[in-house]
Amino acid sequence: MPELPEVETVRRVLKNDLIGLKISDIEIRYNGIIEDDINYFLNNVKGKTIEDILRRGKYLIFKLNEGYLLSHLRMEGKYFYLPNDSLDNKHIHVIFKFNNGYSLLYQDVRKFGKMSYKKDDELYNTHPLKDLGVDPVLDTDINEKLIHSKIIKKHIPIKTILLEQSIITGLGNIYVDEVLFSSKIDPNRPGNTITLEESNNIIRYSKEILNKAILNKGTTIRSYTSSLGVEGNYQNFLNVHTKNICPHCKNALTRVKINGRTTYFCNNCQR
Ligand SMILES: [Zn+2]
Repeated sequence: MPELPEVETVRRVLKNDLIGLKISDIEIRYNGIIEDDINYFLNNVKGKTIEDILRRGKYLIFKLNEGYLLSHLRMEGKYFYLPNDSLDNKHIHVIFKFNNGYSLLYQDVRKFGKMSYKKDDELYNTHPLKDLGVDPVLDTDINEKLIHSKIIKKHIPIKTILLEQSIITGLGNIYVDEVLFSSKIDPNRPGNTITLEESNNIIRYSKEILNKAILNKGTTIRSYTSSLGVEGNYQNFLNVHTKNICPHCKNALTRVKINGRTTYFCNNCQR
């Protein structure tokens, strides 16, 4: 499942290819990917030119010459930028055709991905972007006390809080485990037991780990490999996620399900 570093990697690769291209046609094969009324989406995206590609949390934001195309890859979404008709399969659900003989193909085996069109004044003021918390990579002046005050209002496990995206956005199952290990926090701890110092460590290590993962083009494990020919290398730096032994104290790591997600931690180092 792509998390912030993998989405950022896709953004950088797509940005190299797509800036300045005009979307001359769109083929939608599976309507469930599109959150808008299909005709509204087509009428607003077709004919537009891609001016920039941005990101917030795990959302890709295609800035058009008018409005934005918002895209979330969810579990398995991938983009391929290829000459027209050079790739096709039953998992390709949306095709954007450009005026240069190339297409952007959206492939999604699980069909969980979502796209929508946002007007210029809607992007950050409407769901989903208005509901996202701080982005540890984009936001440089994070209000640490405000983050802590939001965390301690919650009585659910800190891992679940971080997966929710509403206080801090961008961490998924892999990087939450890594951030909580570096912060020495047991992922089962309820939000209301987290101290200001621990909350500050979560912010600090989120920045550090996500930025290092971006430098390594993300993590390639199990089902998710980045599209566009990019293989991430951050799996070589993981401390606990998918591991058996704690790299600090050498104890066996604990593996539990939190919120249905397989969670790895050291019950000796993380309290
Ligand atoms: Zn340990």
